[in-house]
Amino acid sequence: MKHDKANCKDLSPQLEQLGIYLDEFLKFNHGDAMMHQKRWKEILHKPLPVDGIGIDKVISMLGEHIVLNGSPIPKPTFTSFITTGATNVGVLANLAVSVAAPQRIGHHAFSFLEELSLKWISEMFGLSDNMEGVYSSGGSTANILALGAARQWAYEKIDIDPAQDGIGQSSRIYASSASHHTIHRAAAVLGLGRNAVTIIDSDMQGRLLPKALEQQIKSDIQNNYLPVAIIANAGTTGTGSIDPLERIAEIAKKYSVWFHVDGAYGLPGILDERVKPQYEGLHSADSVIVDPHKWLGAPVGIGATYVRDRKLLHRAFKQGDSDYLEGACTDENIQHSLDDLGIPYHDYGLELSAPSRGAVVWALITEIGKAGFVDRVCRHNQIARDMAERVKHEDCLQLLIEPTLSICCFRYFDDNISDINELNRNIHRELIRQNQHLPSTTVINGQLAIRPCFIGARTEENHAFELIDEVIRIGKQLCILKNAV
Ligand SMILES: *Cc1c(COP(=O)(O)O)cnc(C)c1O
Repeated sequence: MKHDKANCKDLSPQLEQLGIYLDEFLKFNHGDAMMHQKRWKEILHKPLPVDGIGIDKVISMLGEHIVLNGSPIPKPTFTSFITTGATNVGVLANLAVSVAAPQRIGHHAFSFLEELSLKWISEMFGLSDNMEGVYSSGGSTANILALGAARQWAYEKIDIDPAQDGIGQSSRIYASSASHHTIHRAAAVLGLGRNAVTIIDSDMQGRLLPKALEQQIKSDIQNNYLPVAIIANAGTTGTGSIDPLERIAEIAKKYSVWFHVDGAYGLPGILDERVKPQYEGLHSADSVIVDPHKWLGAPVGIGATYVRDRKLLHRAFKQGDSDYLEGACTDENIQHSLDDLGIPYHDYGLELSAPSRGAVVWALITEIGKAGFVDRVCRHNQIARDMAERVKHEDCLQLLIEPTLSICCFRYFDDNISDINELNRNIHRELIRQNQHLPSTTVINGQLAIRPCFIGARTEENHAFELIDEVIRIGKQLCILKNAV
């Protein structure tokens, strides 16, 4: 009997070992990966192994040389971009998925949770009852799926099946300049072209101006362009601003254009009663996306797209018949998990092989309930507001935009410095090099902002206040140096 060389027996001995290493990582006492890069690169930079070293030594190497030299993203004081480390239950559920349900196809408990968790998300965030969902790898693909449905819908209205025959007519997608650039990529991938994305003016808060939108649509229709979709942001990536959804919905309806809401980051913001009124109009959306791997704390690799009717996604993204699936299923009398592939998520998007992401989302929601997410979202929004208040009281700081959600954009200011953007770039670089507080930056109306975004479950108020202290300390220091020259 010849066995496979890979260990396929009990998991728990190695799990326990790996768990010890991961717990050490989660104490966040280690330095940045680049600090020790010479050492770990030396150890890891090996030629292709011909003979393996066995699972125990692999786990040791992971623990001793790789884990502690991982990414700073899970740190409580990491507030860059819109990304965070997974909470523990998400990590554990992800592990269970990779062992017990490698694919979402078929009828089993994991695939049951796919649909259930999609419904829960939809209900939790107040989408309209008839929305149907599908998971994909994240916001980028979620936007492609939503716009794929929009493209299908818009072209079918003029008797073209774009998925089958391609597109002939020039089309338009409307978005504000604050929209995520995965919209442009989606337009490129879907054959509409990046130039189809038409940027609509926004106000000083980065919110799309409905009047400008309406004018543009009117003139485009006159010029024979086909409006494919209007993109509204429920939480822009830069500042967390929410577009005037209700006004945009009215315009979409009036001109019969698909209304897409990108809530990859900000859809969970609806859980905060103080912001909820700004989501008025969400009900009219034809498609909505949200990223469970952002505010919900899922491991990276989970986005969700919602549309009113998944048949549209099916027409846009189905694979078509193939010999290798012929005869694999039966239509009636389903008695075994493999009698049928189940809900054809694989025909609603771009992925055939895909993990059972629903079980992860189910675990996240089941652990802390809707109330737990209300707490988290309100806490993070409050941190951004408290931070904004503090910034306003400091002479050397300027608030660049009132926070809507959990992003606070501010900058250091000194009358004697001519290039304030450069000063803040330098402050930011110094922050990163010190490796304690890790916000990112953005530009608001030409002004460079230090931009912490609070979404991590491990992030708390004192982290925000310490960041302010650090910015003031570094800013003062740099100004003294500068003035001394
Ligand atoms: C993060 C984000 C995206 C992209 O999502 P990924 O999961 O990173 O692919 C799209 N839109 C908005 C508004 C986002 O914040």
